[in-house]
Amino acid sequence: MFRGLFHCMHDKTRYPLPSMNDRDYRFATRAIHAGQRPDPSTGAIMPPVYQTSTYVQPALGEPVAGYEYARVTNPTRDALQANVAALEGGRYGAAFGSGLAAIEAVVKRLSAGDHVVSEENTYGGTPRMFNTVLGRLGIEFTYVDGRDPELIRKAIRTDTRLIYLETPTNPMMRITDLAAAAEIGRQAGIPTCVDNTFATPYNQRPLELGIDLVVHSTTKYMNGHSDVVGGMVVTDDDDWAEHLYYMQKATGGIPGPMDAWLTLRGTKTLAVRMEAHNRNGQALAEFLSGHPKVVAINYPGLPSHPQHELATRQMTGFSGMISIEVGSLERARAVVEGTRIFALAESLGGVESLIGHPATQTHAAVDPEHRAAMGITDGLVRLSAGIEDVEDLIADVAGALDAAP
Ligand SMILES: *Cc1c(COP(=O)(O)O)cnc(C)c1O
Repeated sequence: MFRGLFHCMHDKTRYPLPSMNDRDYRFATRAIHAGQRPDPSTGAIMPPVYQTSTYVQPALGEPVAGYEYARVTNPTRDALQANVAALEGGRYGAAFGSGLAAIEAVVKRLSAGDHVVSEENTYGGTPRMFNTVLGRLGIEFTYVDGRDPELIRKAIRTDTRLIYLETPTNPMMRITDLAAAAEIGRQAGIPTCVDNTFATPYNQRPLELGIDLVVHSTTKYMNGHSDVVGGMVVTDDDDWAEHLYYMQKATGGIPGPMDAWLTLRGTKTLAVRMEAHNRNGQALAEFLSGHPKVVAINYPGLPSHPQHELATRQMTGFSGMISIEVGSLERARAVVEGTRIFALAESLGGVESLIGHPATQTHAAVDPEHRAAMGITDGLVRLSAGIEDVEDLIADVAGALDAAP
């Protein structure tokens, strides 16, 4: 059973990684089996945590199973990489120590003088890295509203080498038409990269829409238990894969084996968790959209979302991420401090519900003008619906809203 999925973790050919993109198996089956097989030395059904920095070579230049040094390759990391690649429908996965390290590894294919067209409403740490670190090294960035693919096309210059997108965006839940963006990139000969953290491959698979690279903060839904910081890049492109594995080796932003193992345990339940996040997110959004203290709500699963039709076309579910405008900082503060189940914290995508205030937390690093252009006001509250009983979640938020000024 599942022989096709028990690919060799100890395959001597490290590049390319063995493909786990076995179309014979559906999503939840791949989530549990892809990239894994029983440990050959003991039969242990779980891939071991290979907590080692190096590997013995019985003869010079002849390592036992192709492994030489753990920055370059580690079997636990390989298993995670193959697993997430299979979920995104790509041949190659490259794991990094955080989502930002994964994004940086992509952009490091560029050189000083190269230009990137980026969605303007990404996770706040992304433009911070672009502007204050990579910009200083000579890479230029232009920010556009990805809801209009024509703006992406118009921002392309002769020196543009990457189109960087995020959809749904954090925290405004804007949607980019991925097939249209991929086509613009293809026509111009420019690779496209999408941050798929909010949707997860359970709800949206950008590679199937023609996108070249998918990045994740696996810290969020992919691991799903708020106990690891990690990142991943998935691609089907041989040259990009070579670059990404070279970045692991040459610049070293890798995850440790224990974090890889924990994340792999998380991805096994991605299908069941996302089903619950989707259900709770939808029910909570429907409740909030009718609440008198909610001035506006951003959730792509609501027919009132201006891009609901597009979202329905390219996504199969809308996750647990919701943002609401409550009208003032005073009311926003009362709401985020007034919930009991929703914990006030940055981050998202864990089994437990979280609530936050983008203007002072996740997007505090974004300059106020850029923030205002995106609609991130002082009255904006972001919710990450966990997988608790939804009646309790609704009652919790209702209580905080009712008590707010
Ligand atoms: C959190 C997040 C990141 C950054 O990931 P880290 O793992 O915190 O480095 C990038 N993109 C999105 C959409 C995120 O939510």
